[in-house]
Amino acid sequence: MPTTPEELEQIADAPHAEADDLAGTFALQGNPAPRPQAELDEILQKPGFGVHFADYMARATWTADAGWHDKQIVPYGPLSLDPAGAVLHYGQEVFEGLKAYVHDDGSLWTFRPAYNAARLNFSNYRLAIPELPVDDFLASIVDVVRANARWVPAKEGASLYLRPYIFASEAFLGVRAAAKYEYLCIASPAGPYFPNGFTPINVWVEQDFHRAGPGGMGAVKTGGNYAASLLPKVTAAREHYDEVLFLDAATNTNLDEFGGMNVFVVYADGRVRTPRLTGNILPGNTRSCIMQLLRRRGVDVAEDTLALADVIAGIKSGEVSEMFACGTAAVVTAVGSLTGADFKVELPTHEVSQSVYDELTGIQAGKVDDEFGWLYRIG
Ligand SMILES: *Cc1c(COP(=O)(O)O)cnc(C)c1O
Repeated sequence: MPTTPEELEQIADAPHAEADDLAGTFALQGNPAPRPQAELDEILQKPGFGVHFADYMARATWTADAGWHDKQIVPYGPLSLDPAGAVLHYGQEVFEGLKAYVHDDGSLWTFRPAYNAARLNFSNYRLAIPELPVDDFLASIVDVVRANARWVPAKEGASLYLRPYIFASEAFLGVRAAAKYEYLCIASPAGPYFPNGFTPINVWVEQDFHRAGPGGMGAVKTGGNYAASLLPKVTAAREHYDEVLFLDAATNTNLDEFGGMNVFVVYADGRVRTPRLTGNILPGNTRSCIMQLLRRRGVDVAEDTLALADVIAGIKSGEVSEMFACGTAAVVTAVGSLTGADFKVELPTHEVSQSVYDELTGIQAGKVDDEFGWLYRIG
């Protein structure tokens, strides 16, 4: 299983099986009650984010004897879980997030899915969960999207958001890695994150709580990190901040990332910096792609230690011109202001942020040349 961010890049960039060769790995079971077309049309007009769920989901089970088995596409619906199921007590769970798109010619695509496949195993390793083979992950994406093809919204900026996840389902209260796991992939139509255009967010810089600490789980995609981010988020939302930026737990001085997005700093001289992956920061696919896109433009982009004090001083002096957040869900979000217990600074410029957003969403929509080969054809 991959144990470093470099290995995620290698796996993502290696050749992978094509959709037609993987299709059918997850056997389709009929849906007795698919959503009526009129209802679906209404949903796709205004999908929101994560509120409507497509007719089918992928599922598989892992046991020590049989490995991953019972790979199926089944009707979306409630799970049956023993109340002693280990995930409910010790949080042994990992997840992913990626999107499927329909292009103007009706073809179905997703974006760099092998990165997500690799990162799921990067997370599995840290949480002592068994490996899910990359081909099984890719097959589940192909099969779940093909089964839900009519759920992929065609509007610009819209997509079918895919949420693969694994959790410990063994009924056992002892503390050890579980002996039984469930894999699922559900699908949910998503509208453009900013239906009214590119809207900068107001950010609260959290100096009392951290989302992750040295040696912890900050680099992997597991629910526990999100649980740790919610109290600061609730407090900040009360003061009308849109997002929370976390500092490193060891020194409380350097930028780590947002609760669910990575951060970039753009300097007036053109250079761009993002926090280096210290082990507390999630290696984002979007982060990785943005670094490659900027490098192709000839921009001086690098990973570095970014002290909050330097960033604030830079914003005040004009040395820092922009900041943005990035992740699969919102793609790129410009930061409009940064506030903490004893400071408030504003960032009025968003040109670079906007251009990165345009380029990346253009590639995803099939309207900008996909020079890096990130698009993966589903059907
Ligand atoms: C998922 C996630 C990101 C963004 O990763 P992408 O692969 O770009 O979607 C960033 N930070 C955290 C904590 C995350 O969970």
